[in-house]
Amino acid sequence: MPKHDPMDRTSGFLKKDLETLPPKKRIEYLNLKLRGIIQYAYKHSIAVKNKLDSVGLTPKDIQTIKDLEKIPITKKTELMELQKKNPPFGGFEALPITELRRIYISPGPIFEPGEADYDELGWAQGMVAAGVRPGDMAINTFSYHMVPFALQMIDNSLHRIGCITIPAGIGNTEQQVNILKTLKANVYCGTASFLLNIAEKAEEMGLDLKKDINLKVGLVATEMLPESLRSKLEQKFEMIIRQSYGTADIGCLGYECLKKNGMHVPDDKIVEIVDPSTGKQVGPGKAGEIVATTFNKVYPLIRFGTGDLSLLTETPCPCGRISPRLVKILGRVDQATKVRGLFIHPGQADEVASKHPQISKVQVIVTRKEHKDEMTFQVELKEEVSQPEKLMSEIEQSIRDVMKVRGGVQFVLKGAIPAGANKIEDRRTWE
Ligand SMILES: [Zn+2]
Repeated sequence: MPKHDPMDRTSGFLKKDLETLPPKKRIEYLNLKLRGIIQYAYKHSIAVKNKLDSVGLTPKDIQTIKDLEKIPITKKTELMELQKKNPPFGGFEALPITELRRIYISPGPIFEPGEADYDELGWAQGMVAAGVRPGDMAINTFSYHMVPFALQMIDNSLHRIGCITIPAGIGNTEQQVNILKTLKANVYCGTASFLLNIAEKAEEMGLDLKKDINLKVGLVATEMLPESLRSKLEQKFEMIIRQSYGTADIGCLGYECLKKNGMHVPDDKIVEIVDPSTGKQVGPGKAGEIVATTFNKVYPLIRFGTGDLSLLTETPCPCGRISPRLVKILGRVDQATKVRGLFIHPGQADEVASKHPQISKVQVIVTRKEHKDEMTFQVELKEEVSQPEKLMSEIEQSIRDVMKVRGGVQFVLKGAIPAGANKIEDRRTWE
């Protein structure tokens, strides 16, 4: 429960009309924006033109989100190659670079353009959905150097909402605590793990996190957020913690609302979940690679492959936002394995294990019998249980719930799963 706060943070939208469009209208809106950006990018971005030309497409071939499947996905490695050949942006930019305000550099190196008039919706939508309001004071502890996130994306989005920003950057934990105490900032932007550092440092300095620190809303990003860490921070500070997801190249691709049931896709992006081997859309509820298309006219990335694995849900969200939600980020595509046509990921195995406190260790074994995939969870228990059959069927149920694939359970002796073993071991042979 948040500490006493005169501000109503329970409802509110950045762009209510757009965010609450009926589903059919929303699709029409996105298709219209898609046709616009494809035409624009084909004309102004040499890389996008080359991509469409390479498979014999013209802008009129792309009328709907489904048509996007015809365009090959641009992976990060390809973007890097193109940037090397044609620096700095590989020809994806759609304006002369003299019109930019900044050039950002992410590890790789990968260059990202910083436009003069930043108008991306996603991060600001996420801030409002999390409870950030005009007049709030935010401490921004993401790194301001080189990369676009803190300066371009977060700083500009806070300004758009009408917040005051303290550009604190990362590190100097003790100084950050003193800033929070003196200026009474009520919004935190940064990683969840750094907020935990701040909490520990403040406690070490003898401060009361609920009285001496005024934080009410935290917007975290750039790393996985375990629920245990979220609830720990929410309780310690009596604040709301919500996460967002995106990449430096394309910006925000998902943000949590107060209902905390997945990350809404912003209204200025199209997010597809695709089978990474075919590029085809897999539909709601199925895991695949997050592939994104932006309506940004400065850097119109079309079908950019993030390399992250997730699934979308279209079930209505009680917050009133209509956009689908990324249920969670499961991990990287290159760590995933396909079982009976569905992707499974080490993170899902951990999630199954976390639902049963009796489990100390799991390993998923994938085999093939009579041309059918079989998946078995080998499970080490902390100690013997009185009703192993009952636990076994409960774990099997969790496997179905989490992975959407049936799997068997086999209890093994302590130490049977080797230290450092792969979480998922693929023993299939394809003879
Ligand atoms: Zn919602």
